[in-house]
Amino acid sequence: SMQLSSTVQKLKPSATIAAAAKAKELKSTGVKVYEFTLGEPDFTTPAHICQAAKEAMDAGQTHYTPAAGTLEVKQAVCDAYQRDYGLSYQPNQVVISNGAKHSIHNVLTALCGPGDEVIIPTPYWVSYSALVELTGATPVMVETTEESGFCMSADQFAQAITPKTKLMMLNNPCNPTGAAYPVETLEALARVAVEKNIAVLSDEIYEKLIYEGSEFRSFASFGPDVAARTIIVSGVSKAYAMTGWRIGWAIASVELTAAMTKLQSQETSNPCSISQAATIAALSGPQESVAEMLAAFTERRKYVLERLRKFPEISFAEPGGAFYAFFNVSAHFNKPLGGGKVVKDSSEFCTALLEEAHVALVTGDAFGAPGYVRLSFATDLKTLEEGLNRIEQFLSPA
Ligand code: PLP
Repeated sequence: SMQLSSTVQKLKPSATIAAAAKAKELKSTGVKVYEFTLGEPDFTTPAHICQAAKEAMDAGQTHYTPAAGTLEVKQAVCDAYQRDYGLSYQPNQVVISNGAKHSIHNVLTALCGPGDEVIIPTPYWVSYSALVELTGATPVMVETTEESGFCMSADQFAQAITPKTKLMMLNNPCNPTGAAYPVETLEALARVAVEKNIAVLSDEIYEKLIYEGSEFRSFASFGPDVAARTIIVSGVSKAYAMTGWRIGWAIASVELTAAMTKLQSQETSNPCSISQAATIAALSGPQESVAEMLAAFTERRKYVLERLRKFPEISFAEPGGAFYAFFNVSAHFNKPLGGGKVVKDSSEFCTALLEEAHVALVTGDAFGAPGYVRLSFATDLKTLEEGLNRIEQFLSPA
């Protein structure tokens, strides 16, 4: 039989995708499952974006493009950052890839290798540690707490830095916690990055999903010395309901974008030409749909938080961004839950909840946060209501 590589043997499958697969399996047996696992807007891609893709196909834009994307789509990214954040970039500072996940992989592969350390505040998005380990570098976890709103402080960042530190990976707003970093905290982190000369990969994929009371600032916005060390990663998946189109980008120095372009030219040639055309329409066209989707997420968030506040013995920090509620259920371990189930950790909690109440959540263990579970509220209110009823019953056995 074939011997698999040690790289692949060490690689863990994506826990969020695995949780969704488990829910689907149950569904396929005819059971109605209330699914809150995937980080994907439930809206369809706005019509004008789909229209642009159709027009691109009809116009014959069905060939290879330059490896880092067409000049037009890179220019559209630059124009959007100028318009939205006052940040000035040139198209040769942009690499378009097959989703932000691919962009992160490119950045890590271009910068990191064995012997390097990469600082990751926890709870963190599942793929961060796996993608760092793929390069041979070592993830260095910095634990944040509910009390701090799950934000890493400048002191914590500074203390985690060693001579081997190559990069810090920040996710703002954060999946799974929904933490939206306060501007002062971000600025303090940026000062540390400059003082200690550490590069920062700022994953800003949830930048457009910010709720009242929070504010989004790109990490690159704290001056040229900060921007010079910042690699912005973002994409169209979350803001424009375009997860299936697979378009993300990295914005960085010309030196780094050239390296990533070389890598991409050998690995994937280029991102889909039709999706690139759609992305131009998303970024340059009317932005009303972004606000409409945010309004729907705002309503759902409000509803979910109202319900969670009444749940027995759970705790959470209110999400300032993204579309996740992340709550601590550890007070329910080792005593009877619905159906008499007894669990000892979050993973068992999620399995029992799925079996007993047919509700699918993702275990916090997958995000380096034992005791917690993640509920995605990128789902209609009716499903949320029934799902939350079921979770509440599960937590309060008669
Ligand atoms: N970064 C974070 C924090 C995410 O949650 C996700 C998607 O779940 C991504 C990146 C990847 O998005 P994309 O669909 O652009 O690959």
